[in-house]
Amino acid sequence: MTTIFSNLQAVQQRIARACAACGRDPATVRLLAVSKTFGPEAVGEAVAAGQRAFGENYVQEGVAKIEALREAGVGALEWHCIGPLQSNKTRLVAESFDWVQSIDRLRIAQRLDAQRPAHRPPLQVCIQVNVDGGPTKAGVAPEEALALARAVAALPRLCLRGVMAIPDPAPDPRAMRAVFERVAEVFANLRTALGAPATFDTLSMGMSDDLESAIAAGSTMVRVGSAIFGQRTYAADIPPANNAACR
Ligand SMILES: *Cc1c(COP(=O)(O)O)cnc(C)c1O
Repeated sequence: MTTIFSNLQAVQQRIARACAACGRDPATVRLLAVSKTFGPEAVGEAVAAGQRAFGENYVQEGVAKIEALREAGVGALEWHCIGPLQSNKTRLVAESFDWVQSIDRLRIAQRLDAQRPAHRPPLQVCIQVNVDGGPTKAGVAPEEALALARAVAALPRLCLRGVMAIPDPAPDPRAMRAVFERVAEVFANLRTALGAPATFDTLSMGMSDDLESAIAAGSTMVRVGSAIFGQRTYAADIPPANNAACR
């Protein structure tokens, strides 16, 4: 059994325990394996262990991995772009990824909509919300989320799935949970305001260090990197709190 295999099992167990602690069905929480900075072999090991959904922050690195895994013939995988996107990278993302979780301005969403190839299903997207940071942090402020969500929902080649957030670490799990609860409230309010479409079902929050607090607050998708693949050592890696741009 490889390390990645046993790490994945340990993360699944953490998810199951966190769900049990708050009376949730573990089937309501998806695990996104964040493979940024790790090579296609690491992704291949996770695939062999049954993982199908992967998250990448850096566009070129992600696209290279998507192609490598396709060539390896491991079957259909689901790729999520989770880093902030620059306009000059939207075409690559629209052509290669299945999801983009980091939508925080309309212009990027419009470009992705225009560039999504006709032969592919609509791109699944989340609005990134910033509930705890200043104006320099990525993500839209809660009071601006509805206007953006309505505009994104009207784009035919995108499917609006929900909300993503990367709150800064709080001093303890209880404080962390309170921050996640604010994100959950934004999600619930948007859902109601949009008329509760069935496809608006994703509350993406929680990472290696805080997935239990996120699940307690209602997360439906945790994005876990280091607890699965190990510590990232790459000089080019920037911690998520700094919102590494998709390069
Ligand atoms: C890197 C990253 C993660 C995973 O972080 P870990 O602490 O390694 O689990 C999750 N979400 C985003 C947006 C990231 O950039």
